[in-house]
Amino acid sequence: MSSRSHLLNDRTAEHYRRSLHDGVERVAEKLAGAGQPFTGVTPAELAPTVSAVDLEQPLGTAREALDELERVYLRDAVYFHHPRYLAHLNCPVVIPAVLGEAVLTAINSSLDTWDQSAGGTLIERRLVEWTAHRIGFGRAADGIFTSGGSQSNLQALLLAREETCRLVRKNSETSLSTPQILPKLRILTSECSHFSIEKSAVLLGLGPEAVIPVACDERRRMRADALAEQLARCEREGHTVMAVVATAGTTDFGSIDPLPDIADLCAATGVWLHVDAAYGCGLLTSRRRRALLTGIERADSVTVDYHKSFFQPVSSSAVLVRDKDTLRHVTYHADYLNPTHSVEKGLPNQVDKSIQTTRRFDALKLWMTLRVMGADAVGELFDEVVDRAADAWELLDADDRFEVVVTPELSTLVFRYVPAGGPDVSGTGQALTDQANLHARDALFASGEAIVAGTVVDGRHHLKFTLLNPETSLADIATVLDLIAGHAARYLDAHTPALSAAQA
Ligand SMILES: *Cc1c(COP(=O)(O)O)cnc(C)c1O
Repeated sequence: MSSRSHLLNDRTAEHYRRSLHDGVERVAEKLAGAGQPFTGVTPAELAPTVSAVDLEQPLGTAREALDELERVYLRDAVYFHHPRYLAHLNCPVVIPAVLGEAVLTAINSSLDTWDQSAGGTLIERRLVEWTAHRIGFGRAADGIFTSGGSQSNLQALLLAREETCRLVRKNSETSLSTPQILPKLRILTSECSHFSIEKSAVLLGLGPEAVIPVACDERRRMRADALAEQLARCEREGHTVMAVVATAGTTDFGSIDPLPDIADLCAATGVWLHVDAAYGCGLLTSRRRRALLTGIERADSVTVDYHKSFFQPVSSSAVLVRDKDTLRHVTYHADYLNPTHSVEKGLPNQVDKSIQTTRRFDALKLWMTLRVMGADAVGELFDEVVDRAADAWELLDADDRFEVVVTPELSTLVFRYVPAGGPDVSGTGQALTDQANLHARDALFASGEAIVAGTVVDGRHHLKFTLLNPETSLADIATVLDLIAGHAARYLDAHTPALSAAQA
């Protein structure tokens, strides 16, 4: 085949159809045949297979490359659609979105300028408006699709930083430069917030000490009284609070900070409020639980991750702002791309609002989702996993083998295997109980039968389920709990000094 026969164009439609058809068939087979979420392959086992591929020797056909892909990737991939994948914030994806993905990658629009996207830009703008409307923002709102929650948080904090510097200059009537102001800036966010807040602070020229953790209550929600104290302390110490970041759905606990109380404090002090709803944004489509997000409409900026709770493929995320004027802080003009006269002509260039330049048309996936199934159907799927988490909490709470940390507001469960009688009474000790939980997670992953996550709560190792798959039944959860208890108990049997001695 000639090199040009691989180009997608008017003369290669048949090649395109056949290649994609073969690929789709292969994936459909894999999805149907996945008896468990993972094979348990180790990096050491898989690396030689990948290394052995000679990248200087192309195979020539899609079919042969797919056969090879079976060995280097598909056979041992981690399958998020499997009901016993319970680990991270990864959702199974809806078919309309996968169709959108196939279309957007073939057309390959780039959403930086009108002249590289046309209708794509208008579709993205409609979805930004739609999301802003669901949040409860007014007509001055705007936003942009991003690569993920981390980028959305970074952009929101960049806007907050620029607005704060502007206000500092205005209020002090001095011409302090941004580098002179930066050391004074602080960000207040709960101790359970996402680590991208700290990363963003460093990227924005603030030190890691600029992020002040605010204490949480026993349900892992930011304490408004603790926030008030920190705001007062910053004021006393001559620090300027650049933003308060509230989390609507913490990564570990799914807890939602008290948005109305936090919004009151921000309004009283004139501080930028950013709401990180990377996880909780699914509630925007829920008919039963939308009220959990009450107060989000008072934010200055909001992060939403459609690829977490809208059942969208990675990547699909957005940052929304209450006041579109604030996006001017990322507006730069290049003569070759988006010259100032394109603004005068009224051309909609999305690059003026983004920190990226070339940018995927990820919005099409959400568009197809809304056009085929609609927002209510997305909300029903999310409600189902939240319901399941509540039932699973009851299961865990009633089970002596486990201690469960908080009643879930969304769909995560954080718990810990404990030996009969508890770590202290049983003589096992906390450290060994920690080891047993770590071991159970690893052993489960190595078996591939189920995948769960882990985290540390109050210095102790815990296990975590993030439920995002409506196909995960309570029976699946019970099965996984039995597997975990089995691994942990066997570990303790082998490692508890008293027991080993008694057995000897
Ligand atoms: C996942 C998550 C993020 C980061 O989003 P990415 O899409 O992974 O970059 C930020 N904040 C919260 C609360 C999250 O759960």
